[in-house]
Amino acid sequence: MGDHRNEIIQKLMEVVSDSARVLTKMEDLYSFSFDASFGVYRPDIVCQPMATEEVVDIIKIASKYAVPIVARGRGTSLSGGPLPVKGGIVLDFSLWNTKLEIDPDNLVAVVSPGVITSHINDKAGEFGLMYPPDPSSAHVSTIGGNLAENAGGPRGLKYGVTKDYVLGLEIVTADGKVIRTGGKTVKNVTGYDLTKLIVGSEGTLCVITEATLCLVPKPLATKTAMVLFDEIIDSGRAISKVLSAGILPSKMEIMDQHSIIAVEEYAVLGLPIDVEAILLIELDGHPLAIEEEMSRVADACMAVGARHVQVAQDNEEAERLWQARRLVSPAIVRVKPTKISEDATIPRSEIPAMFQRLKEIREKYNVHLVVFGHAGDGNLHPNIIADQRDVEEMSRVEQAVEEIFEAAVQLGGTLSGEHGIGTMKSPFMEMELGEDGLHLMKMVKEAWDPQNILNPGKIFPEPGQRFELRND
Ligand SMILES: Cc1cc2nc3c(=O)[nH]c(=O)nc-3n(C[C@H](O)[C@H](O)[C@H](O)COP(=O)(O)OP(=O)(O)OC[C@H]3O[C@@H](n4cnc5c(N)ncnc54)[C@H](O)[C@@H]3O)c2cc1C
Repeated sequence: MGDHRNEIIQKLMEVVSDSARVLTKMEDLYSFSFDASFGVYRPDIVCQPMATEEVVDIIKIASKYAVPIVARGRGTSLSGGPLPVKGGIVLDFSLWNTKLEIDPDNLVAVVSPGVITSHINDKAGEFGLMYPPDPSSAHVSTIGGNLAENAGGPRGLKYGVTKDYVLGLEIVTADGKVIRTGGKTVKNVTGYDLTKLIVGSEGTLCVITEATLCLVPKPLATKTAMVLFDEIIDSGRAISKVLSAGILPSKMEIMDQHSIIAVEEYAVLGLPIDVEAILLIELDGHPLAIEEEMSRVADACMAVGARHVQVAQDNEEAERLWQARRLVSPAIVRVKPTKISEDATIPRSEIPAMFQRLKEIREKYNVHLVVFGHAGDGNLHPNIIADQRDVEEMSRVEQAVEEIFEAAVQLGGTLSGEHGIGTMKSPFMEMELGEDGLHLMKMVKEAWDPQNILNPGKIFPEPGQRFELRND
């Protein structure tokens, strides 16, 4: 941006209706220089648009000066998505939460990009409806960030992820054009499905300024069970056994022994610390149906070696059981301060094999590897707890993470089930996609953003880029 900074600031002040929403002071810019992953990159300017016309004008200015534009929701990305690694203008959407309309006749919600995800589900609930995608960060992350990362959550097992609930988008392109994709119809096969291409594109193809989301009827009831396993491999078998018995739980989450111990030391919930794994299983639907299904779930788990199945008798007990899962993240960071959260995902049948590989990786590199996550859809969250000040330990961690990705891909899986590629996983893209697959994706990027101003430095590896866990 260099010499043009003042000129650009002047022009931005003219197009953003309130100049207080153009931030230029160092102390303000610093707040937008990090996310929930690694690395600190200060933007040159931050704009906080609250209307599509403002986004259009800002992008036209950025395009004229060939300056990077990095969209940002609430900065909870675990993969480096909103980091302005090449400087430029950060478009902070966190203030633009003004539109949250529910259309109950069409079962849709129309939202502005800065709306907090859980607010959509809360509002839908007032109409007896539900917005299913439920990332653990739903109470802090924005729908714009969820769309750009194609976020998922525990309910993904039964209901799918963000992309399965997007009917239409309003976007602004790299040259400042406003385009609408899809709409309020459930079906739409007019031409290429641009909506689905944009979802998960991490702000590299366009900027999302409005979304039309599909809602579903809220289930009548839920039922939760906690299942204990002496062997973690058996918990993997239980997942396949339950699903192949024709039962589709709404949630099926796993905690390994390391996470159970960490939670118990953190909150004393009375969890058994001598088991190798806990599965938390939630069913939803008609109360009579889920009662019968839960007894079949229990039988299936016991048949593959579960030690015990505890079925919650009421909502309060269910809430207590889920508390254990919710506390994993805060609990494990008390062990060591640096948390490297991965989301390598494998086909469900390979869950036992992946557990075995993770065990070997833990021992080979002597790292504090904790496994929890959305086991029912194969989206495990191997987390490594470390201390970034310990250079030797961090080098072992980097090697362990590389091997986790290799294991996932070798087992027919993927680098990321929901956290996205960002800066963290770009060095591994070719490993999964192959040279030609990666090239095809690059051609899409070049067609949409020939100047490479939209979130540059993400998804695609830079020449010679190596994997490193930086936090400078
Ligand atoms: C404790 C914790 C738990 C988490 N749990 C989950 C989980 O269960 N499931 C899951 O999927 N993720 C999870 N995440 C990761 C993160 O919350 C998600 O990726 C979320 O979607 C990011 O939303 P955000 O608003 O913070 O976006 P940001 O982090 O600000 O941005 C994320 C990406 O979206 C782009 N972007 C943001 N807004 C727009 C827009 N309007 N137009 C175009 N691009 C845009 C950014 O450029 C960036 O690439 C978790 C994170 C934390 C810290």
